[in-house]
Amino acid sequence: MAHATFTSEGQNMESFRLLSGHKIPAVGLGTWRSGSQATHAVVTALVEGGYRHIDTAWEYGDQREVGQGIKRAMHAGLERRDLFVTSKLWCTELSPERVRPALQNTLKELQLEYLDLYLIHWPFRLREGASKPPKAGDVLDFDMEGVWREMENLAKDNLVRNIGVCNFTVTKLNKLLGFAELIPAVCQMEMHPGWRNDTMLEFCKKNEIHVTAYSPLGSQEGGRDLIHDQMVDRIAKKLNKTPGQVLVKWGLQRGTSVIPKSLNPERIKENIKVFDWVIPEQDFQALNSITDQKRVMDGEDIFVNKTEGPFRSVADLWDHED
Ligand code: NDP
Repeated sequence: MAHATFTSEGQNMESFRLLSGHKIPAVGLGTWRSGSQATHAVVTALVEGGYRHIDTAWEYGDQREVGQGIKRAMHAGLERRDLFVTSKLWCTELSPERVRPALQNTLKELQLEYLDLYLIHWPFRLREGASKPPKAGDVLDFDMEGVWREMENLAKDNLVRNIGVCNFTVTKLNKLLGFAELIPAVCQMEMHPGWRNDTMLEFCKKNEIHVTAYSPLGSQEGGRDLIHDQMVDRIAKKLNKTPGQVLVKWGLQRGTSVIPKSLNPERIKENIKVFDWVIPEQDFQALNSITDQKRVMDGEDIFVNKTEGPFRSVADLWDHED
């Protein structure tokens, strides 16, 4: 359920309540492929756009820049307790003894004392220096239970407020739920009208795991251009909104938080103006009916080795659930 929490530039900023009782702001700024421009994007989002939620990861290589942006926004008057900062544990760190040092490095890069959310980035362990695509021996066994225990310890020690996962399947979530003392607060997954991923959404809802939708605009660069999709464009024109806003709102109306990335100040501000209107049911259903359902982030280039395994196909990665 969405809750109105605070107001920025006269608009209601909504959030979702997590199992822990913390609130996750409904729209966050994505920072993948933001590089040196991440600082400016974060400042624009936090100070001018009214964002309170930033999504980053060690693997994006921009945590220092994101941290500088957060610092500048705090100098401009924002309080740390009003911000929701997410980062992710990369695949090379997926062994129990590496979890805490990885988090400590992330906190140092971000210049923060704690994270609001720490996610397992992908459920596959990589050897340091792994090639793309992986060579034999690059994809290693993943001790899910041991790693999760360490994630739980970070939460117990208040270094992270919430823990969660990304890119899991029902099979993998079931395995995790079998031993978890702290169940994941959030599951972050690719979701947009071209990849609804209803199975995971329903499974998470049933288990009270909040879902964050990543690549909500189809990721654009090398992904799927939903911004210029005819139906999205038609609905946007009808509602006097932009395609970006319609795509973000579609995710919110499904009960997910949404983390669009932009480096463009106007688009950053536009993407969060989604709180004082709705997509009417008929148009919402039309967006739910795109038949060409395909992942953009299928993980093939990072984890699939067609001849050596352990994952010989994209279907193997996703436990043959699609
Ligand atoms: P998005 O779906 O957010 O799309 C970003 C692209 O859309 C950029 O090219 C951006 O260009 C463009 N764009 C942004 N706003 C608009 C707009 N209003 N109109 C037109 N174009 C627009 O892609 P991402 O893949 O970056 O996903 C968002 C975030 O999700 C990531 O940045 C990351 O934080 C997270 N993520 C997590 C993953 C995981 O494994 N957990 C995997 C992938 C993403 P411009 O900058 O020029 O505006």
